[in-house]
Amino acid sequence: MTREDDRTLFINGEWTSAGNGSLFDVLDPSTEAVIGRASDGGAADARAAVAAASAAFEGWANQTAYQRAAALERAHRIMLRRADELAALMTLEQGKPLRAAKNEVLYGADFLSWFAEEAKRVYGTTIPSARANQRLTVLRQPVGVVAAITPWNYPISMIARKVAPAVAAGCTVVLKPAEQTPLCAIAMFEIFEEAGFPPGVVNLITTGNPEAVGDVLLESREVRKLTFTGSTAVGTELAARAASTMKRVSLELGGHAPFLVFEDADMDHAAKGAVLAKFLNTGQACICPNRIYVHSSGYERFIEAFTQRASRLTVGAGHQDGVSIGPLIDSAATEKMERHVADARNKGARLLTGGSRVSVDGLAGTNFYAPTVLADVTPEMEIYTEETFGPVAAVIPFDNEDEAVRMANNTDYGLASYVYTTDLVRATRVSERLRFGIVGINDINPTSAAAPFGGVKNSGIGREGGAQGIDEYLDVKLVGMTV
Ligand code: NAD
Repeated sequence: MTREDDRTLFINGEWTSAGNGSLFDVLDPSTEAVIGRASDGGAADARAAVAAASAAFEGWANQTAYQRAAALERAHRIMLRRADELAALMTLEQGKPLRAAKNEVLYGADFLSWFAEEAKRVYGTTIPSARANQRLTVLRQPVGVVAAITPWNYPISMIARKVAPAVAAGCTVVLKPAEQTPLCAIAMFEIFEEAGFPPGVVNLITTGNPEAVGDVLLESREVRKLTFTGSTAVGTELAARAASTMKRVSLELGGHAPFLVFEDADMDHAAKGAVLAKFLNTGQACICPNRIYVHSSGYERFIEAFTQRASRLTVGAGHQDGVSIGPLIDSAATEKMERHVADARNKGARLLTGGSRVSVDGLAGTNFYAPTVLADVTPEMEIYTEETFGPVAAVIPFDNEDEAVRMANNTDYGLASYVYTTDLVRATRVSERLRFGIVGINDINPTSAAAPFGGVKNSGIGREGGAQGIDEYLDVKLVGMTV
């Protein structure tokens, strides 16, 4: 971290300390050692940030789309220049392997460049009127001050994915990052500062006390929009509270992705894809498969290939060579793995590899968990319905397409889903029947700044990225005129 420890709030273009002067520790999940500290922002700091964002709004909204785009383009260039440093910081603070961290930085940077372009495409429309002397025009205008709340698992890209469309649309932002990963957020705001956004356009409140800051953001009438990425439990509660001031809401929440492998799929290719998707970010991604359904005719072949690949993954700290499974974020996450595995085994699942914590030479951390494969998982097991969010894979056999689609859809979540098949007609049919916001067909990474990302049902409301992403930050206004 380059700045003074006690000045990590960015309010009205200035780095400041928390009003109460306190700090909270930031840990390296691989060693559980303190690697830094951040200002513990409170309610008064949040109010100051909202006031700054509110004061800056009109001026920013009135800048041309080209001026707003230019600031985002500058931020994009700085982010690319600092990509290696950001990746190393993310690996230290969040634990993911360095290569994955670099990929995340580049994915995040894409949003800055994509929305710099989209800023220039906020088109209005004219509507033919039934009255000869009337003109109807539809404008799209920025919603106002945006409160953005982000999680720890993608600590840089989730910030870019919210801030870029908001400022492109002409909104101003107060961002509260996860308490586990404030250092990545601070680095992103250094980039926004260097890019030259006017004071108050982007504001950062680091805090170890999300409730106090959240209360101010939710209760403020000046905040007109809440954009949240995190768990379904917290998102649901915040959305309910946002309703009392009738804020616009976008929610990117949990998932329980089904991964369907049909009898006509190439089983080795499917096993390779399933390992990459399941163990992405040590299983701590909202789009990780939580239920892997395999047709009974290829079931044993699939689990053999899948288990072999999973057991070859190396566990360790993200900066170590060859590591693809980093630590889990904290002990609660690791305990959840233990609970899901014990529960599944007690109810008859077969443990094919893993199933325990591992210690890594030279690292004090206790949150390393072996990549784990459970076969013959059934609906009675916790892992079948609860988001696992870690490196434990559940494999389930099925006998026909109808049964597979029915089981896949039988969840309260609706974010990502995956289908492996070589039958084009089946791919079309099944992708249309799956009730999820995202379907990957023989594709484990159906995400891009250019594409709408988001879920249905308990996985959320709204889309991030794509042409749709900026709509979340725009209100529609009708102007009728008698001529
Ligand atoms: P979380 O809900 O515990 O925390 C998310 C954010 O909410 C953090 O910044 C936290 O400080 C904040 N928060 C918690 N309580 C709050 C309160 N009362 N007021 C204001 N803010 C509050 O989730 P997490 O454990 O950090 O993240 C993991 C979850 O995020 C998983 O469920 C995962 O699936 C989901 N996720 C979803 C997406 C997506 O795009 N759909 C992307 C990444 C993660």
